[in-house]
Amino acid sequence: MSHIVVVGGGFAGVWGAAAAARVRGTEDLRITLIAPGADLVLRPRLYEPEPERATVALKRILEPVGVEHVRASVQDIDVDARRVIADGRPMDYDRLVLAAGSRLVRPDVPGAERLFDVDTLEGARRLRGHLRGRDGYTTVVVGAGFAGLEVATELAAHGRVVLVERSGEIAPDLGLGPRPVIEVALGKLGIERRLGTTVAEVGEGVALLSDGTSVPADAVVWTAGLEASPLTSRIPGDRDGLGRLKVDAHLRAHPHVFAAGDVAAARADDGHWTVQSCQHATPMGKTAGHNAAADLLGVPLIDFAPAPYVTDVDLGAAGGVYTRGWDRLVALSGAEGKWVKRWLMEKIHPPVDDAETILAHAGIVTMPIPF
Ligand SMILES: Cc1cc2nc3c(=O)[nH]c(=O)nc-3n(C[C@H](O)[C@H](O)[C@H](O)COP(=O)(O)OP(=O)(O)OC[C@H]3O[C@@H](n4cnc5c(N)ncnc54)[C@H](O)[C@@H]3O)c2cc1C
Repeated sequence: MSHIVVVGGGFAGVWGAAAAARVRGTEDLRITLIAPGADLVLRPRLYEPEPERATVALKRILEPVGVEHVRASVQDIDVDARRVIADGRPMDYDRLVLAAGSRLVRPDVPGAERLFDVDTLEGARRLRGHLRGRDGYTTVVVGAGFAGLEVATELAAHGRVVLVERSGEIAPDLGLGPRPVIEVALGKLGIERRLGTTVAEVGEGVALLSDGTSVPADAVVWTAGLEASPLTSRIPGDRDGLGRLKVDAHLRAHPHVFAAGDVAAARADDGHWTVQSCQHATPMGKTAGHNAAADLLGVPLIDFAPAPYVTDVDLGAAGGVYTRGWDRLVALSGAEGKWVKRWLMEKIHPPVDDAETILAHAGIVTMPIPF
């Protein structure tokens, strides 16, 4: 029996496995998903005060659609032998869907082991556990991008927050569109900004910045810089500056390997590459899983076609800012922006337990947002 192996149990991997199961129908095709954890972790929600709520048991999605879950980590991929090595054991595949995601790159500074993060469930739990029971604490958040802004504005409800950003501007990657709204929100929440500097050392209860100043801190949260899983280096082919595999319109990275989510760079439209986001990881996973199964079963492959690009940054008690298009023009802000954010965070929860509903969702690759 032919075998599809999916590496990774995030948005891309889960939807890749479900989409392959949908194309399989009643044909003989084995589908295995390899991921170390028992849960799909909804990473965009890890900045919330109760990160443990941001999980969905993988078995509630995979079991109903007949996908086997092997709890292990893949250490190596041999594309010539069509084999992965997971926790030391070989597993052969006919088609591979690589969806091992990304990870935060920690800075090489003294005391880096004291840094907290909201990148993984363990990291987010460790931060909240450390702060629990303290009152009116001070946190230093390093990086004023998406994740940094969301965690900083949430933590502002509990005490002093100092937001440190290497570039001279807040939200450098979000561009000019939403910046004025974000600046007003930070002001309203009393978040201090230190621009053009970064953390140079993390001491016990203090962050030392590269401009020579220091900030007493109960916790220093690092949010800057994601890189693709190092497994991408096992697949021959071009990679971008984030370590992502460049894939074609079918999301193929190598003759028998498809790649989706944060490990892959695909053309989102004529002028733009995908960004490391769940709004791209989900349709990429569905496309890659569909194509892996279609390739084996001799049915037509589909081109990757994501919905129009949007962003929504949660700004804590100051609401949210929702933008449309690659120029990130503000469409909604304040309470309305926050309402859309909540809607989006609900929508990223996959359906569970019912095979028909899960497979139906797996078939909707382009899901436009009605705002
Ligand atoms: C704080 C924060 C806020 C965010 N906010 C947003 C947002 O508002 N909107 C948005 O669209 N995106 C947001 N993102 C980005 C989004 O979470 C990611 O782009 C998305 O999770 C990528 O999905 P993925 O499936 O490619 O990878 P991941 O979610 O990284 O999942 C990777 C999976 O692979 C597994 N894995 C890793 N290595 C191996 C291995 N060697 N062997 C086997 N399995 C492995 C992992 O355990 C995991 O199951 C945010 C991210 C963070 C951290």
